[in-house]
Amino acid sequence: MGTHGIGMTSARTHARMVERLREQGIRDEVVLSAMLAVPRHRFVDEALAIRAYDDVPLPIGHGQTISQPWVVARMTELARNGRELDGVLEIGTGCGYQTAVLSRLAKRVWTVERIGALVAKARRNLQALKCGNVALKHGDGSADLGEELSVDAIVVTAGATHVPTALLRHLKPGGRMVMPLSQPDEGERGVQHLTVIEAAPGGMREQRFDAVRFVPLLPGLA
Ligand code: SAH
Repeated sequence: MGTHGIGMTSARTHARMVERLREQGIRDEVVLSAMLAVPRHRFVDEALAIRAYDDVPLPIGHGQTISQPWVVARMTELARNGRELDGVLEIGTGCGYQTAVLSRLAKRVWTVERIGALVAKARRNLQALKCGNVALKHGDGSADLGEELSVDAIVVTAGATHVPTALLRHLKPGGRMVMPLSQPDEGERGVQHLTVIEAAPGGMREQRFDAVRFVPLLPGLA
């Protein structure tokens, strides 16, 4: 049985996943529709496809994971904040799952991944699903990207103890960066809180939300 052939089972479990997201407090209907439109089983290995609609992260190779559906929905909801998004920058493409979700609610998505093999995997996944509004880059999103980019939202999908300040210049006025950020006591335990940094008129404003657990934001290329 091929990954693409789990057919009826996947359609039902996928719809149930989105119902669970609603029960778990995701309110933004645009985000819920995007979560229903993107087939998560196409982003994991065939052997794991049966678990693709469980609310858990799953391994994607190279010591990395595909994010848990609830986390993807929650971060996307915080990034959108009810607005229509023109441009979005994602740091940490992984296999491209959240990239595909973002590509359904933003006009243009730029995504950066430090592991070359994952950039190739994400490119295959996104091409197969015809996500034509995505630009992928093999790069280090914890440093200056060397690009002239201006976006409404930045989504950092790896955990950090500090805000990657080099990215803030890419935020338009009123734009928001969403990231898993550790307080000093949380960093060594590998836990973070989803944090929104908003480019407000008086300067950057920070708000903390849900507790989460992400793989770390690492420097350099691999
Ligand atoms: N957005 C993905 C999450 C992948 S896990 C999803 O939807 O499933 C986080 C990813 O961040 C990993 O692939 C990891 O290699 C990548 N990453 C870690 N540090 C990074 C950095 N400095 N720049 C770019 N990507 C990074």
